[in-house]
Amino acid sequence: MGMDDTFGADLWRVQKELEAEIQRSEAILSCMKEGILAIDGAGEVLKLNRKARQMLNITGAKVEGAPISFVCGQGELLAFVAEGLAARDNSEREIKLSGPSPIIAMATRSPMFGSGGEYIGMVVALNDITQLRRLENVRRDFASNVSHELRTPITSIRGFVETLLNGAITEPDAARRFLEIINRHASRLSSIIEDLLTLSSLEKGEAIELARQPMLTIVQKAMDGMAEKAEEKHIKMKILCEQGIDVLVNGPLLETAISNLIDNAINYSEEGTTVSVSAERAGEMVSIHVRDEGPGIEKQHLDRIFERFYRVDAARSRKAGGTGLGLSIVKHVVLAHRGNVTVESVPGKGSVFSIHIPIGESQEGE
Ligand code: ADP
Repeated sequence: MGMDDTFGADLWRVQKELEAEIQRSEAILSCMKEGILAIDGAGEVLKLNRKARQMLNITGAKVEGAPISFVCGQGELLAFVAEGLAARDNSEREIKLSGPSPIIAMATRSPMFGSGGEYIGMVVALNDITQLRRLENVRRDFASNVSHELRTPITSIRGFVETLLNGAITEPDAARRFLEIINRHASRLSSIIEDLLTLSSLEKGEAIELARQPMLTIVQKAMDGMAEKAEEKHIKMKILCEQGIDVLVNGPLLETAISNLIDNAINYSEEGTTVSVSAERAGEMVSIHVRDEGPGIEKQHLDRIFERFYRVDAARSRKAGGTGLGLSIVKHVVLAHRGNVTVESVPGKGSVFSIHIPIGESQEGE
């Protein structure tokens, strides 16, 4: 083999190694969940990974070599980059990225220096924190909702106590009426707190205790608990439950969920209507339906009624003694059973809430 051949072979090997190295770097960059953007000292794009393209909504095929301000119209990001090019510093900032679904990103910039210490440009890493911020908002809203819900009955209680102390206590009729109101608000407070405790224990996500039992027993218990309330409102209750369905569930929790649905059905329906509860098996699942002839729910609310404290008509809910937490408890109980809850409603005609949970067949014979 001559000198040239050896040299050619070496060159060939070096080239292959370089290609392999480039491919590895590309693979690393493209699988990162952060958006990575490298920019040279003149503000031109050196490199952009797949995630950064997605986050910045960049569709152009070849963007390397173009000024960043040409390929991307994200104002907050461009300002962050321009500052970084001037200051050559490490820095971090929360920025908004517009697009079909807007993103909140934590942007981090770091300067790049060559082996001789010369400034090459900067790398910007973009972390999508949209979901995190959304959860924080949910939590913040929840805290303010709880405070608001608790403050309303407390304000009333204090007002009536004051009226009593200021003299009403000597007028037996008025005093009795005020005490009844105080009593009602106090029960409301304790319902809210009960519901919050139930929700928070469900939200811990811990496994629930399961036992095999007849579906009919659970449905019957839930109905019995609501019978008096139904009677007061002259609402007929019907039960249609397939015999012989045994389910592996947490009885008290499932009973609470069904009771909450029946409670709503009674609360939102007119006197003299019928509420029916049925349960049937379909394969490995059991479905429990609570049907009413109430006002129904407009389509735009259907997705939201399972959120904590979401109400279609807050005044009506409070008047009926609702806490705004009933359906969110139902949802969590059902999720803890690996099931789902659905609702079908025709405004003016009525609603059907359905719980679908696995029968838990696989556990049989353990
Ligand atoms: P609430 O304590 O207010 O009843 P829920 O979480 O149980 O709270 O229900 C949320 C909202 O969904 C209610 O305020 C009401 O507007 C609506 N809703 C629930 N069930 C029914 C129903 N059966 N018919 C009509 N509206 C309902």
